[in-house]
Amino acid sequence: MAEEADVIVVGAGLSGLVAATEIADAGKRVIVVDQEGEQSLGGQAFWSFGGLFLVDSPEQRRLGIKDSYELAMQDWLGTAGFDRDEDYWPRQWAEAYVAFAAGEKRDWLRAMGHRIFPVVGWAERGGYDAMGHGNSVPRFHVTWGTGPGIVEPFERRAREALKSGR
Ligand SMILES: Cc1cc2nc3c(=O)[nH]c(=O)nc-3n(C[C@H](O)[C@H](O)[C@H](O)COP(=O)(O)OP(=O)(O)OC[C@H]3O[C@@H](n4cnc5c(N)ncnc54)[C@H](O)[C@@H]3O)c2cc1C
Repeated sequence: MAEEADVIVVGAGLSGLVAATEIADAGKRVIVVDQEGEQSLGGQAFWSFGGLFLVDSPEQRRLGIKDSYELAMQDWLGTAGFDRDEDYWPRQWAEAYVAFAAGEKRDWLRAMGHRIFPVVGWAERGGYDAMGHGNSVPRFHVTWGTGPGIVEPFERRAREALKSGR
C-alpha cells in the first residue's frame, strides 16, 4: 500500500474524510482504510446532529448574538483550565481552532454546498457567566440536513478523487 499512495488515512469518519479529501485535492494519492464497509462512510458524523461551532457568524448576528474570537477563546480557556506544561499543544490547537471557527470555516464549508439551519442553538451551555465554563452565547449551528448534510460534501469530494485516480 505504501508504494501506491503518498498518504494512508486510517478511518473514514469525518476527520479521516476531511484529511483525505484535502490531501487528494492537493494532488497527492491517498488510500483510506476503515474497519467497516463503504456503507459506513462518514462514521459517527452521519448519525450526528451536524451541529457546528462557529463564532460571530451571520446567523448569530441576525439573531442579535454578539460573539467574537476573544469571547470564544475566553469560554474555551474557562472550560479547558489549561494550567500544566503538557497543556501547551492543546492550547495551540484551541487557538487555531477558534480562529478557524471565527474565520474561514463557514465560507470553506459554504463553497462546498454546506448550508445552515437559520436558528442557532445553545449546546454545551455550562456555567452561567462569561468567566465560567461552557459557551456563554449560542454557537451551535445545525447543518441543513443534519449529519448526512455534513458528510455529503466530503463524500462527494472523496468519490471525485477516486474517479480521477487520486
Ligand atoms: C448521535 C450523535 C450525535 C452527535 N452530534 C454531534 C453534533 O451535533 N455536533 C458535533 O460536533 N458532534 C456531534 N457528535 C460527535 C461527532 O459526530 C464525532 O465526534 C465525530 O463525527 C467523530 O469523527 P471522527 O472521524 O473523529 O471519528 P469516527 O466517526 O468515530 O470515525 C472513526 C472511523 O475509524 C474507524 N476505525 C476505528 N478504529 C479502526 C481501526 N483500528 N482500523 C480501521 N478503522 C478503524 C471506524 O470504523 C470509523 O469509521 C455526535 C455523535 C453522535 C454519535
